Amino acid sequence: MRVLIIEDEKGMAELLKKGLEEENHRVALAFDGLEGLELARVYEFDAIVLDLMLPKVDGFEVARRLRHSGNQTPILILTARDAVPDIVKGLDLGADDYLTKPFSFEEFLARLRTVARRGSAPRPTRLQVADLTLDPASHQAIRGRPSATKRENPSCEPRQAPCSSLPSRTTVPGREALRERRGSK
Ligand code: CA
Repeated sequence: MRVLIIEDEKGMAELLKKGLEEENHRVALAFDGLEGLELARVYEFDAIVLDLMLPKVDGFEVARRLRHSGNQTPILILTARDAVPDIVKGLDLGADDYLTKPFSFEEFLARLRTVARRGSAPRPTRLQVADLTLDPASHQAIRGRPSATKRENPSCEPRQAPCSSLPSRTTVPGREALRERRGSK
């Protein structure tokens, strides 16, 4: 699986990364909330490990923003022992499970596998025909240009993120047309 670890204790983050890589998982590290959000926005992960106490943007806010933006990647939160209100708040904001520090790597791996396997509720793909968009998840039919979604964000292109569902177009304007359009601005 592809795992994003957002944890500012670098020693802990590196240790988890090393352990996961030994199990043949691919791991990305972020040492603060902003960096974590950026990675989650650009790349696809099977699970996100999220520490709650983070610099810049804390774990609660990271979870809230991810879910608010429609990102449903399973989240395993890491928190201090007995921080029950934190756990409840984290779960309310959309985290899927939690682990209290300190924990063993075996326990971490087991929890992570479970959240990733359980996954997020599968969101059916939007269907698009000409200017009509059908969203089975929200039971909506939208006529006209759909509002921008995560996958349509052009910034994922230069970084070669897996842009799996870029909107398909029946007609693609030629280079000349594009140049003209740009020039006319
Ligand atoms: Ca921390």
